[in-house]
Amino acid sequence: MISHATGHIAALIAWLATLGRSNRNLQDTLDGYLYKTMKDFEAAIAAMRFTGVRQADAVTKLKTYMHSVYTMPEVLSAFRRRQNFKATYIQLGGVQPGAVGLSNNGSTNVTDMARITSQMAWMREQGVQMKESGASGYYQLRGSTFNCDLCDDETGFHPNMEEIETAPYPHPHCKCYRVPIYPVEDSSISENTTRQKRRNEYEKLLQDPNYKDVEYNPGNGGLKATHVKHNFDKKTGKNEEKVQQIGYEKGHEVILDLERHDLQNVKTPKAHGTERRWK
Ligand SMILES: [Zn+2]
Repeated sequence: MISHATGHIAALIAWLATLGRSNRNLQDTLDGYLYKTMKDFEAAIAAMRFTGVRQADAVTKLKTYMHSVYTMPEVLSAFRRRQNFKATYIQLGGVQPGAVGLSNNGSTNVTDMARITSQMAWMREQGVQMKESGASGYYQLRGSTFNCDLCDDETGFHPNMEEIETAPYPHPHCKCYRVPIYPVEDSSISENTTRQKRRNEYEKLLQDPNYKDVEYNPGNGGLKATHVKHNFDKKTGKNEEKVQQIGYEKGHEVILDLERHDLQNVKTPKAHGTERRWK
């Protein structure tokens, strides 16, 4: 059996796997970026070997230029002698086939994708949690002034919670965020529920020969009844009836019940606690 949390994570991972660039899934996209990273490093190593950089220095240099191979001085000078090179991206001058200008380093794409994908997962999970916690909609706000028409169009109230899975994803760079909006408890609904319960209780008490003075006020939901064996105290009994009447008129349910010391074999005069039901 899959637990709720595990199911969540499995669903999230399945969704993540679909995320790639240009209609590719995540794995294929990552493979492409890693392949490009390898070709970037190939260009750097070829250029450094050509200019006689020692191996120990080459490692240090490569670490420094890991995300900017095509600004490395050795690589720039290699571009001018590209006919001497077999390394693909020296031959291409650092430009991906079909692209205009220097292409991103593969390693930059890998780290960007890791960052953006984890942010997307975070937003996605947040949306699922908002939905599950009963939000009826969400408010989206800009967290930056970065110029972005797409994020501008998404700001404001989204009354349909389903949208959170299909709406354009808030760009991490734009720092947009979402605030869940919860419905206020509908008091007329809870009032109707209470009335319905009172009415049912009233019908039951009417049929019950153990109760007398059963009354229900459909106007305010007030309900009163008195158990035939309810023991009105000689001194305070009148007050008890008065209080019952006031409560009833205010729309409460006041039932004067069987008193425990009225029960046979129960000789606990202190047991007064259950004699009155007031709601
Ligand atoms: Zn944006």
